[in-house]
Amino acid sequence: MLTDYHVHLRPDDEGTAFERYMTAGNAERYRTVAGERGIAELGVSEHVYRFAAALDVWQHPLWRANAHDDIDAYIDFVRSDTDLKLGIEADFIPGREDRMANLLEGREWDYVVGSIHFLGDHALDYESYDVWTTGQSPDRVWSRYFEWLGEAAASGLFDILAHPDLVKMWGRERPRPDGDLRRFYARAMDGIAESKIAIEVSTAGLRKPVGELYPDPAFLEMCLEAGCPIALSSDAHVPDQLGYGYERALEMLDRLGVGELCVFERRQRRLEPIGAT
Ligand SMILES: [Zn+2]
Ligand SMILES: [Zn+2]
Repeated sequence: MLTDYHVHLRPDDEGTAFERYMTAGNAERYRTVAGERGIAELGVSEHVYRFAAALDVWQHPLWRANAHDDIDAYIDFVRSDTDLKLGIEADFIPGREDRMANLLEGREWDYVVGSIHFLGDHALDYESYDVWTTGQSPDRVWSRYFEWLGEAAASGLFDILAHPDLVKMWGRERPRPDGDLRRFYARAMDGIAESKIAIEVSTAGLRKPVGELYPDPAFLEMCLEAGCPIALSSDAHVPDQLGYGYERALEMLDRLGVGELCVFERRQRRLEPIGAT
């Protein structure tokens, strides 16, 4: 089995209207490309901030500018008009856990992908609101990021911990702490070990300035030692990005002795042996 679960049916740009992308034809394009690449287990996980309901959780300006769509129309579309698994990419916003739980609960997700894109009001992977313009030291940014990552895992809100070292996204374009980075990863490990959350191996970093898989093998090793299973995704935003760079991800997983991937259904997870179909 190969999976691609962290998948968006449209780019993040404004102007990508629901009606244009949430169509059976668009879903079919994703299914066709996935099939060509041996990915049998395909799901979608739209950003929570594209939905009006997200404004009950958080009112960041980026969210206010994008929160137009009806979350239940999305669920209805995926369940009625596609054969894709139903997910959502939800942000971890400290202090807003109850509000996010309210949004998520009572809706029949196959899985919830949990992400940290913001440290406070500042973003890790958006040019606007860039956290690296705040004057905080790299050690401070990385410490907070991994502390919050552990809290996100422990919150119980999510099934999959997305792009777990997203903080490195800019690569050489932003400062990076010196030395062995495991001192930062360690800050997340209590929450990760306690939750046994699925750890996402994402090839999206290969398409970003950092040019690396998420997460770093050293981080993944720590998660494996903590007993966590692996979820594999591309974070595709167009069909051609499905399964992008999977040979690199599979090579890393093989090297670390991982032979199984998580498969999700109605928020229940099981493990399947890795392999293209
Ligand atoms: Zn993300
Ligand atoms: Zn995503």
